[in-house]
Amino acid sequence: MDEKRFVYADNAATTRVDPRVLDKMLPYFETGYGNASQLYKLGRDAAMALEEARKNVAAVIGAQPKEIYFTSGGTESDNFTLRGMAHSKQARGRRHIITTTIEHPAILRTCEALEKEGFSVTYLNVDNYGMVHVDELEKAITPDTFLVSVMAANNEVGTINPLKEIGALCREKGVYFHTDAVQAFGTVDIDVNEMNIDLLSLSGHKINGPKGVGAIYIRAGVLPETQITGGGQEKKRRSGTENIPGIVGLGEAARLKLLEHDEEVARLRHLSRKLIDGVLQIPATRLTGHPTQRLPGTCSFTIDALEGESLVLLLDNYGICGSTGSACSTGSLEPSHVLTGIGLPAEVAHGSLRLSLGRFNDEADVDYILACLPKVVDRLRSMSPVWKG
Ligand code: PLP
Repeated sequence: MDEKRFVYADNAATTRVDPRVLDKMLPYFETGYGNASQLYKLGRDAAMALEEARKNVAAVIGAQPKEIYFTSGGTESDNFTLRGMAHSKQARGRRHIITTTIEHPAILRTCEALEKEGFSVTYLNVDNYGMVHVDELEKAITPDTFLVSVMAANNEVGTINPLKEIGALCREKGVYFHTDAVQAFGTVDIDVNEMNIDLLSLSGHKINGPKGVGAIYIRAGVLPETQITGGGQEKKRRSGTENIPGIVGLGEAARLKLLEHDEEVARLRHLSRKLIDGVLQIPATRLTGHPTQRLPGTCSFTIDALEGESLVLLLDNYGICGSTGSACSTGSLEPSHVLTGIGLPAEVAHGSLRLSLGRFNDEADVDYILACLPKVVDRLRSMSPVWKG
């Protein structure tokens, strides 16, 4: 390795907007800036772009376009689902929600808020790979349960949940099934009908689309209470003048995901395999998450006897962007709830590293990471009082 490169390997955090997506969006800032509620042509053109995007998003998950509602992103879609279903007449007085201990904070903090309102929430444990076991879910369902919310794939360790089995169980028990598919949308094969998914959250910025735009799939006939009231956009379910450039970008990003799916998944699997095999050559490292049922680009590890944060900062010096589940966000070095949720002891979880590959990574990026990472690890371990290697 001779030259320093810039390698963005944090695609699970966010992605670069694909230039093809940007090209589609730009005219809606420049000339196509109409309000989609207006009757004249500029408004009608915006409304048409909105419906085109809706079709493209729906196609990825086998939904009908009318079942897609645009939001400001994954967080809003998760909030809409949980609060909306909790307050829906369709809960029919039931007050119990089931989710998992390793969901995104958009789910966990919202569940906690609902607990304060008097709802009860079961946080299912997952196995050491981060997977939900359907028999445990079954045991947790009571006559008071109205909603199960289980993420399609975990953002830190990449494990994919058995959505079809979970959906079948929820349908049999008469419980609504929501999945946070922010990490999985467009990468993992999801068919909302085959999998009996009633609600699904997705986000633009994880699929090489823009930030601040997402969508929720709501099965026809499912009626979460509206959370944002106002001018009645999105069939009165989510008010606010539509973010047309963002929605057009999301639609195009979804279309590209579907179009290039097979080739891209195979390419990412190949790159990830090489990266994982290479990282595991470093002594005292482990892969976290499921060995096979995992997102094709998300590679997550623990590396003994060092701090994830120092690792991320030193990698940054080499031009490599990665992330750790043990970031010192609050001043205390608490490992993430996901890493403790999969049973990792705190001292192991402290050395976590996530390298998530995406559309713009190539073989040379992986080679560069594999050339730099061992040096960074050696350097940190040479300063570590606990490294006995
Ligand atoms: N859910 C999961 C699993 C995520 O990974 C994220 C983003 O990191 C979100 C929800 C939140 O999505 P957004 O950033 O669009 O609000």
